[in-house]
Amino acid sequence: MNRDGLSRTRTYAAGALALLAFATACGDNGGGGAAAPAASTAASSAAGPAGGGTPTAAATTPGAAPAQGDAAAWAKWNLKPLAPAPAPPADKPIKLERTGTVPVFSDVKTTDKVVFITIDDGAEKDPKFVEMLTDLKVPISMFLTKDIVKNDYGYFKPLQALGNHIQNHTVTHPVMSKLSADKQKSEVCEDQAALTQQYGTAPLLFRPPFGDGANTPTLNSSVQQCGPRAIVLWRESMQIHDMQYQAGDKKLKSGDIILAHFRGPKELKGATMTQMFADLLARIQEQGFSVARLEDYVQAPAS
Ligand SMILES: [Zn+2]
Repeated sequence: MNRDGLSRTRTYAAGALALLAFATACGDNGGGGAAAPAASTAASSAAGPAGGGTPTAAATTPGAAPAQGDAAAWAKWNLKPLAPAPAPPADKPIKLERTGTVPVFSDVKTTDKVVFITIDDGAEKDPKFVEMLTDLKVPISMFLTKDIVKNDYGYFKPLQALGNHIQNHTVTHPVMSKLSADKQKSEVCEDQAALTQQYGTAPLLFRPPFGDGANTPTLNSSVQQCGPRAIVLWRESMQIHDMQYQAGDKKLKSGDIILAHFRGPKELKGATMTQMFADLLARIQEQGFSVARLEDYVQAPAS
């Protein structure tokens, strides 16, 4: 085998390994083991409207914040309402510049007791999730990958119409640090072009698949050339029923950014997107946080 073939094989293998690690990390935390008992309770209680008993629960708690769905909506999904998010800060903790190096962040400096939910890729397109977000009005940011969403760009439009932003997550979901500068640039720029055309607004934020290459000058330069003005990572990663925490104490902190994915029963060991999301909200609720909109804490460059 010549050098070229070998290095190509290596590159491919590294990519495949990264993908495998990604899938495995997901399965490990959500499946068997310690997480399972709590998880199955949460999952069954989060089964959604089919659970029954919806109308009676609704009458008791009037006056929930309109921005986050009313009490009946939370009851419909068998969830306790999240505390309403505070008004967005007038002075944004993260201020983006029009030119130059883009910042890389995985949380937002704030004393507000809020966390931010980001949902990636776009594979699962479950109509029930649109219904759920329409009911609950929990803000999310969507980092979409062109090749994964192009078979149904329309799915994400009602989610966008709720006020949620669409952000950049490459064309093919590669391991960016394995690519040349030119290839990196086309991954970011072509996703930027497609999402801008489809959703009518240019993504301000970029997330590299697997978080890979986030702190390299090459990726920073590629992002700069395509339009996004920040690289966004995360502090927690939602699995099936619970989050994987980077912090040793396994607790949410104010301003944490949470990574989740548009995933369905095949990736979630039989759980649905709405069950996964209900479990995520339950984990946030029981730690006393509300969910704010990431873009409300980020100031776009002055035009
Ligand atoms: Zn991804």
